Amino acid sequence: LLELAGVSVRFGERAVVDAVDLEVAEQEIVCVLGPSGSGKSTLLRVVAGLQPVSAGRVLLGGADQARVPVHRRGVGLMFQDHQLFPHRDVGGNVAFGLRMRGSAQGPARAAYASRVAELLELVGLPGAQGRPVASLSGGEQQRVALARALAPSPRLLMLDEPLGQLDRGLRERLVVELRELFSRLGTTVLAVTHDQGEAFALADRVVVMREGRIAQAGTPLEVWQRPASEFVARFLGFEN
Ligand code: ATP
Ligand code: MG
Repeated sequence: LLELAGVSVRFGERAVVDAVDLEVAEQEIVCVLGPSGSGKSTLLRVVAGLQPVSAGRVLLGGADQARVPVHRRGVGLMFQDHQLFPHRDVGGNVAFGLRMRGSAQGPARAAYASRVAELLELVGLPGAQGRPVASLSGGEQQRVALARALAPSPRLLMLDEPLGQLDRGLRERLVVELRELFSRLGTTVLAVTHDQGEAFALADRVVVMREGRIAQAGTPLEVWQRPASEFVARFLGFEN
């Protein structure tokens, strides 16, 4: 579904993303791991069309995206800080995701309400439409952000630290729920995290980044059992 070929992003002298090749298959869940500043968020922004590349190509469904604007790429992006609109209620936030749909008209207004209800049910918040965002817990807000990102039925869903603000117990529970949800919907997912436990629980394949390059890519088991380098081993928490 997604193919990156030799993608680089340079700021001045520095390559923040450095000649990255990566493929994500239909219905695959890929997690990008790596230290802070290794280029993970930049990579997602490139795929979303929010960050121009200095070199390389981005293909979605085989089509070069160089001239395709953000809203026509059919991708959903949930940011690191989920950025709900505090002045809209839960329903309003999710409905905004529906309006992001590529087509000019989108669904008819009447159809919004039932689709919003469906999405909230999907993320485990049935009936929350009318609640003010501020009255939700952190975990509930993350779910609303997820519902908003899922609203346009993106062919590729990208999550940047989707469970970033949450405590460990909640993260562990949500990660299991997310995995079930994505497999049920057949969603293709490219997710960023710096939590290896989360990546290993969620992903079919993990990609470890270091200074803009891919240090290793493989199934969680492969990466865990055979770290490709000292760096990967250390990042995974092996002492030697
Ligand atoms: P984190 O885990 O902290 O979120 P990350 O892996 O997502 O880190 P990025 O946000 O992709 O890292 O940033 C990679 C590097 O690129 C950082 O050093 C950042 O300061 C730099 N960078 C990102 N955007 C710009 C920009 N517009 N101009 C200059 N440098 C930038
Ligand atoms: Mg980031």
